[in-house]
Amino acid sequence: MTDLFSLAGRRALVTGANAGIGRAIAVTLAGQGAHVICAGRRDCDETLAEIAAAGGAGEGLRLDFADPMAARDVFSGAGIDILVNNAGIIRRADSVDFTEADWDEVVDVNMKAVFFTTQAFGRELIGRGRPGAVVSIASLLSFQGGIRVPSYTASKHGVAGLTKILANEWAAHGITVNAVAPGYIATANTEALRDDPERSRAILERIPAGRWGAPEDIGGTVAFLCSHAARYMTGAVINVDGGWLAR
Ligand code: NAP
Repeated sequence: MTDLFSLAGRRALVTGANAGIGRAIAVTLAGQGAHVICAGRRDCDETLAEIAAAGGAGEGLRLDFADPMAARDVFSGAGIDILVNNAGIIRRADSVDFTEADWDEVVDVNMKAVFFTTQAFGRELIGRGRPGAVVSIASLLSFQGGIRVPSYTASKHGVAGLTKILANEWAAHGITVNAVAPGYIATANTEALRDDPERSRAILERIPAGRWGAPEDIGGTVAFLCSHAARYMTGAVINVDGGWLAR
């Protein structure tokens, strides 16, 4: 019987796999049997050690989205059939003071690199007539406005939109394109919020689950979306947020 949730025999590339949510996703995909290419602008040795310790398989790849086109050649002949667009950054300032540099940097990594990395992945699969799965990491700020993070909010709304257009264009090729929108997860991305006692308390009070999320809370949904169990799901943006958006 087909194991609906197994990723055995699959090859996955996870961007930003050295830390935080990306690291947890890489470890989870490897735990489900995928060979995971852990991409980062620095080495992913800790992630690879964690994968190996659990009996999984993976390899490292340097990929820096300071050049949003950096992944243009990485899929060619590489047999990769799962792409997780996880790398992302955030810059905080009042909108009236927000700089062009903070706009460009965030939009380049969070949206432009996501589109052109996914384009390179799609071209390779479509060219070879092979199926595959894309999962991008969106955000609650794919649905809500947030405060003091205009380029982040714009970029994550963009990720939701790109998920839908690519799902439309590639469903006929057997490529599913979905996104996961994490709630408030304790990583470097949210350190400034957790360091601010007032914001931290206000956020925690609003989370029905009563706790901040951990990176490990996200990997299972990503693995599901890459698996045979989710073969008829495409164009979805799934929130994994301890109930935040239901509130
Ligand atoms: P994180 O710990 O800061 O991880 C971000 C990852 O992106 C790191 O691996 C980072 O590499 C990588 N990255 C940043 N700039 C890059 C570049 N130019 N090229 C290649 N990689 C780059 O934060 P995280 O929370 O795990 O974030 C992962 C994703 O989840 C992001 O897309 C973020 O927007 C999203 N997200 C997070 C939350 C949350 O509450 N934490 C909520 C919703 C969505 P370095 O280690 O080298 O910086």
